Amino acid sequence: MAESKQFVETYLREIGVQTPVSLFTSEQSASDQSASGQSNLRPEILVQQTDSKVHSPAADASAITSPAKQNFEVKADVPAVAKSVSGGLSDLAVKASTCRLCSLSQERNQVVFGVGNPDADLVFIGEAPGREEDLQGEPFVGRAGQLLDRMLAAMGMGRNEIYIMNTVKCRPPNNRDPKPDEVQACNLWFEQQLDMLRPKMICLLGRVAAQTVLKSDEPLGALRGRWYDYQGIPVWVTYHPAYLLRSPGQKQKSWQDLQALLSGFQKLN
Ligand code: SF4
Repeated sequence: MAESKQFVETYLREIGVQTPVSLFTSEQSASDQSASGQSNLRPEILVQQTDSKVHSPAADASAITSPAKQNFEVKADVPAVAKSVSGGLSDLAVKASTCRLCSLSQERNQVVFGVGNPDADLVFIGEAPGREEDLQGEPFVGRAGQLLDRMLAAMGMGRNEIYIMNTVKCRPPNNRDPKPDEVQACNLWFEQQLDMLRPKMICLLGRVAAQTVLKSDEPLGALRGRWYDYQGIPVWVTYHPAYLLRSPGQKQKSWQDLQALLSGFQKLN
């Protein structure tokens, strides 16, 4: 409990949330749901989806409960694909670096493939590189990246423990949303990359990434708070750090998301 309180206090202090937040929101919620007899997310839902399609929120809603009550008894063979594939991942990054499959190649400075621990159990996915990312060749740098670092620190994690990537690898002009044909083209790299990483859990950051991966047109607010499935991998959705910088009032909700993510992740390990 003291550790949880420390996480909360650290995060609230770091991101500047001033208003009080219940330290026990998620625990109380879990207790309430347990008392109501709601069922947990069935492990088989997580392990029996082997096609490449992400299940729509509506289709999975009946099998999904509040995140605070998840029981991720994922079978040990879920991350069955060998994780010692950093060579393969590096090779894939080299191949992607010269990609000209879509028009985003015309104005980019470089392909921003991904960064982090290739053996990570947790992968964060954003939408596309921004200006700083395009210049530095690394996802989530600049102010949004710094906020992500603080969010991770509040969860007791560092970048060396996770992997960070985007659905689209080149910067859209003026940071516009990626177009459907660009997303489709870049899916070539996206799917191979995730297949090589084969994490135990995925966190989608922001509306565009969530809608893209989940193949949904629902707004982010509707997509939050439920677990999804990507080829047997549990998927969670929360705000993009860049959005939180523009809308600091959502930081408390983001912390609730991260608590649920952390709770689910800890049950996997
Ligand atoms: S966005 Fe993806 S598909 Fe388009 S050029 Fe860049 S790497 Fe290739």
